[in-house]
Amino acid sequence: MLDFFNSPLRRYVFAGLFLFIGTSLIFLIPENGRFFYPLLFPSIAILREKDSEARFLLIFFASLIAIIFPYFTKSGKEEYSILISQMFLFWIIAYISHEKYSLASRIKQENLEKKILLNSEIQELKKKIETYRAHSKKAEKRIQSGKILLSSLKNIQIKSNPQDILSEIKASLQTIFPDCYCEIKTRIDSDLFCSSAFLGKTAVLIKNSKDPRFKKDAFINGEKSLIAIPLIVFSSVIAVVKISSKQEDRLNESDLRTFELLIKSASIGLENLNLFSQINELAMKDALTGLVTHRVFQDKLDSEILTSGRTKYPFSLIIVDIDHFKKYNDTYGHQAGDEVLKKTSSFFLSHIRDIDICARYGGEEFAIILPQTTLEQAAQVAENLRIGLSQIEFIFSNVKTQVSASFGVSCFPQDASTKSQLIRAADERLYKAKENGRNQVRYE
Ligand code: GH3
Ligand code: MG
Ligand code: MG
Repeated sequence: MLDFFNSPLRRYVFAGLFLFIGTSLIFLIPENGRFFYPLLFPSIAILREKDSEARFLLIFFASLIAIIFPYFTKSGKEEYSILISQMFLFWIIAYISHEKYSLASRIKQENLEKKILLNSEIQELKKKIETYRAHSKKAEKRIQSGKILLSSLKNIQIKSNPQDILSEIKASLQTIFPDCYCEIKTRIDSDLFCSSAFLGKTAVLIKNSKDPRFKKDAFINGEKSLIAIPLIVFSSVIAVVKISSKQEDRLNESDLRTFELLIKSASIGLENLNLFSQINELAMKDALTGLVTHRVFQDKLDSEILTSGRTKYPFSLIIVDIDHFKKYNDTYGHQAGDEVLKKTSSFFLSHIRDIDICARYGGEEFAIILPQTTLEQAAQVAENLRIGLSQIEFIFSNVKTQVSASFGVSCFPQDASTKSQLIRAADERLYKAKENGRNQVRYE
């Protein structure tokens, strides 16, 4: 019913209709006017707050009728007072319906405003949630990449060979940039960006293939965005590592920083490996003569005993001691003595086989391990070395000098069943050679 009067036209028509019927009846049958006056009441009730003009008009007519109507009837005071009270009643109804509608519309308006406010707040909140989600997604991605990066950085430092380091870089780059293509180039080729990273020793970041600084044909294999970083080890570029994407603007400065960190760590790892092998070399080789050290000699002797035990081939050991070397040092100086040690070493090295091992055993003592060699064969080698050494002329300050050496030879398993027995046997024979006048080989 209320919906029916939602249309203003309907309200005006029905209000007018009630006014017309009521007024007509009042004026047509004036003696019962007081009974028809209430017919005006519904007309005011169906009007609403926004129909204020019609309402005033209605009130005006209703009041007019109540005031002038008694003049058309012969009714007395009583009739007049009923009409006046009906008019007051009419006003009260008008006031109440006005209040009702104005309160309802106020509440409706307030609710509407609240709804709008709430809606805009919800929209704002939604926007905030969206931005927060995007941020948290980015942060999650960064944390993930950071974790991979951290474990790669750790892994790189514990790798024991360069190839493993390069493989680790490639693997972690592929995990951090799964949609990109990764390659490691060790030579300059037609790839312009890798070549410029190689030659310029600097990182190259191309965010976008539309960059006017680069020709279209510089981009190969449909790549649109790329980073190429030189892998520098001890100031030399050993490779260029490149990641590329077929998507424009895929790679940016933040990716470059992550990538650079990885490459820097790889470069430190490779330098460490190099230093480690140098240190290892230093520990294994004697600084003056370049021969292997006493420790290496001991290890080689251990492994030779195992090999000989397994293959049943004998092997021999020669221990050499330069004769009267103290006197030589005293006569020609320590530097001259050093030169003798160096030249003697290279003489020995050039007169033994590749499989033989010559070590600096002590100050002016040498030890030579001869795999798959009998005692007699080893004695012959020692004899050749003795003769050869005694014929070398060492010239210092235009003075020609010569040295001789004594040799003790032993053989495994003929002379010994353990390493220490083998060394003792060679040592004892060397002692005998010394006792016997030096510059000789003893093998029994
Ligand atoms: P022997 O014939 O009995 O072996 O007499 P020797 O003088 O050779 O024996 P000794 O063991 O008394 O002296 C060895 C000398 O070798 C003493 C030391 O000064 C010298 N020597 C040891 N190492 C080096 C070195 O690296 N450089 C030089 N120049 N001399 C060294
Ligand atoms: Mg000695
Ligand atoms: Mg000596």
